[in-house]
Amino acid sequence: MTALPPIREVIQRHCLAASKALGQNFLLDEQLLDRIAALPGSLAGEQVLEVGPGPGGLTRALLRSGARVTAIEMDRRCLPALAELGESFPGQLTVIEGDALKIDHAALMGGAPFHVLSNLPYNVGTALFVRWLSGEAWPPLWKSLTLMFQREVAERIVASAGDDAYGRLAVLAQWRSEARLAMKVHRSAFTPPPKVMSAIVHVTPTAMPEGVSARMLERLTEAAFGQRRKMLRQSLKGVPGALEALAGLGIDETRRAETISVAEFVAIAKAMG
Ligand code: SAM
Repeated sequence: MTALPPIREVIQRHCLAASKALGQNFLLDEQLLDRIAALPGSLAGEQVLEVGPGPGGLTRALLRSGARVTAIEMDRRCLPALAELGESFPGQLTVIEGDALKIDHAALMGGAPFHVLSNLPYNVGTALFVRWLSGEAWPPLWKSLTLMFQREVAERIVASAGDDAYGRLAVLAQWRSEARLAMKVHRSAFTPPPKVMSAIVHVTPTAMPEGVSARMLERLTEAAFGQRRKMLRQSLKGVPGALEALAGLGIDETRRAETISVAEFVAIAKAMG
């Protein structure tokens, strides 16, 4: 393998001035990038989907780890730099130009299991995260998600009942997956530095609880957290079967959504049938 030029040099040579509109904040520290690529465990021979490779910092760390990477990038200015990177790792990198929100990832990965790693703009990252965690089919085709978020969003994903950050996102992320805050990343690690701190969340699927549909659970948490300061007997009034389920399970209907654990939400959804 030939030595790769520093990412900073790649950015300069390909004139990849960071675009604010595309949420571009690049990571240049190769040691940090190698640590991020190591978070899912060994990726040697594994298929990886990377969304938003940009100039390819994380991509090169993934390729170095022996992964076969399919990368979706919206900014066509980055494509020549990525093509160059692919030449250093023959047969390991496929780059798709496009909007990751409009692409069918399972089809793109040929229906085979894959890991997802990504450092995305906040709004795109959250939309994709919700998409990867929604739907009835479980386990999903992805084996793990390793995603950079604003720290505040990462805290919402891993929050427990009673935490200020606890809400729909935590229930979605934890009812049939394990979600942990894997690494905090200081804003100064990015070029240009964003206004807020970041953190990486690592998610792996667990077993789907029996007798619970994703649609039912979503309906329940939408109603419960839609009025999070209200008692459940008020917020769940319009959800058929919910108050009966609470009574059957012995869950006090004067409690508020923010005190109901993920396991309790699952039990309520199950009791609603
Ligand atoms: N992975 C690089 C790194 O860590 O240095 C770049 C990270 S930068 C925060 C986000 C990247 O996502 C940019 O290259 C941007 O062009 C790309 N991007 C933004 N929205 C996208 C979308 N909807 N689909 C695919 N890529 C997108």
